[in-house]
Amino acid sequence: MPYIVKTLISEMDLQERVRTLAEEIAPRLGPDPIVIGLFKGAFIFTADLVRELYRVGVNPAIDFMVLSSYGAGMDSAGTVAVKLDCREKLEGRHILLVDDILDTGNTLLFTIDHLRAKGAAQVLSCVLLDKKERRKMPVKADFVGFPIPNEFVVGYGIDYAEKHRELPYIGAVVQQQAAS
Ligand code: 5GP
Ligand code: MG
Repeated sequence: MPYIVKTLISEMDLQERVRTLAEEIAPRLGPDPIVIGLFKGAFIFTADLVRELYRVGVNPAIDFMVLSSYGAGMDSAGTVAVKLDCREKLEGRHILLVDDILDTGNTLLFTIDHLRAKGAAQVLSCVLLDKKERRKMPVKADFVGFPIPNEFVVGYGIDYAEKHRELPYIGAVVQQQAAS
């Protein structure tokens, strides 16, 4: 079905919020922290966030994990699995977990458990976008960029069938009715 991408959060608003997020996060991070981003959706957010953390004096290790994802469509896979684990040793470490969107909560809950099971001393979580009304699991992110309504979003690292990750803003996918 044809669709358009409607701007939901502008590039300027993203930049400003990532900056203030870093200020909120910095004082809560433990010593020698490690930032773990979830590929692929959080790659741009993580890259911007670590540079804003640097500005407020945080020099973290940085790693990524790949989990099972949405696939090519708009429906959640439901179950989560680790496709590629982070390489850093996590025993006793202070972690900031970074993801793009908190939706049902499956991904965040699974990943926090996974990191704790690997011996992390502290797991703080930060998501750029929070679709609160979609929550199914009892999980909250410690830091949220923007609460958003239940719309399918793309841009700033987030895709629709591997498209639109390069957009510097967050847009909502709006399906267009085919003319009859
Ligand atoms: P959850 O496990 O919380 O249901 O889903 C979280 C994951 O679903 C996010 O990391 C993201 O990959 C994906 N997701 C949720 N909402 C959207 C959306 O609007 N657009 C895209 N592209 N992915 C989404
Ligand atoms: Mg994801």
